[in-house]
Amino acid sequence: MAQHFLLSSAAKTLTLTHVMRMTDQEAETAFRKVRWASTNGEAACPKCGVLEPYEYRRETGTLAFECRDCKAHFSITSGTMFASRKRPLRDYLAAIAIFCNEVKGKSALAMSRDLGLSYKAAFVLCHKMREAMAEEMKGRTVGGTGKVAEIDGGHFGGYIKPSNHIENRVDRRLAANQNGKRKAVVIIRERDGNSVPAVFRTEGAALNWIKSRIQPGTIVNADEAACWDGLNARFEMRRINHKEAYSADGACTNMAEEFFSRMRRAEIGHHHHIAGTYLLRYAQEASWREDNRRVTNGEQVRTVAHLAMKSKPSVDFSGYYQRHVKAA
Ligand SMILES: [Zn+2]
Repeated sequence: MAQHFLLSSAAKTLTLTHVMRMTDQEAETAFRKVRWASTNGEAACPKCGVLEPYEYRRETGTLAFECRDCKAHFSITSGTMFASRKRPLRDYLAAIAIFCNEVKGKSALAMSRDLGLSYKAAFVLCHKMREAMAEEMKGRTVGGTGKVAEIDGGHFGGYIKPSNHIENRVDRRLAANQNGKRKAVVIIRERDGNSVPAVFRTEGAALNWIKSRIQPGTIVNADEAACWDGLNARFEMRRINHKEAYSADGACTNMAEEFFSRMRRAEIGHHHHIAGTYLLRYAQEASWREDNRRVTNGEQVRTVAHLAMKSKPSVDFSGYYQRHVKAA
């Protein structure tokens, strides 16, 4: 039997010990190379693009630059996801390595212990990495003529704790006894291709989004749920009745279900609570991990670092630390 990819030495090209042994300069060089990849790490002014800025060190020791042309001051992380950072760059590289090495997810609490951060700071950092991963799937479409995609939905959040005494318990399956917080994550996954998730009130509300994200000509696999019938006019559909089989006549949604299986394990095993505001971010993280699970860990770290360097400061979390921690 062939060795599992994750067990092979080819999958392991970067270790945490390697990252932690890096000097500050080596970590700077690594980040320069992902931020300014086209010039092999030579800094370019983020405002005007002029090369060869003056280099200096701030009082904190942070490497900074002054543009020769427009006189703008900037650092390696200015204007990126890690702007206004508080820690040395090596710690960010270590955080990315820890985050990527956990194939199903990394809890913010464990990250805070690994890196000696407060829980809030670790929470923010993990979310910034999720946001960087999501950058890759912005506006992504999958499929095309002759390609096959699978769609499926899964429900997260809105957990209602059953009453202690059995006589007080209600039927939690009924809409009247739910709290309205339950959301549907819908995944589109191209076979041998990429995936893209989104969050809706119900699976049925996802149809227009699905139509916009799957290219015409794609064969779409879905389960028997009536909510997908609205896609029949747009795509060649293959339906699988899971009461009869997991796969029949070439129809199956096993890849889409793998996504939910791993996302569910991330919820149960690492995060415990992934509902609410940030559900989409957790879904995007799970989707990125699915798409990249056969990529070496070194390459994964490089990609996440690159995505963080080309992402603007976080929409959700830029200044979050100041707003939520310093004020406390
Ligand atoms: Zn400039």
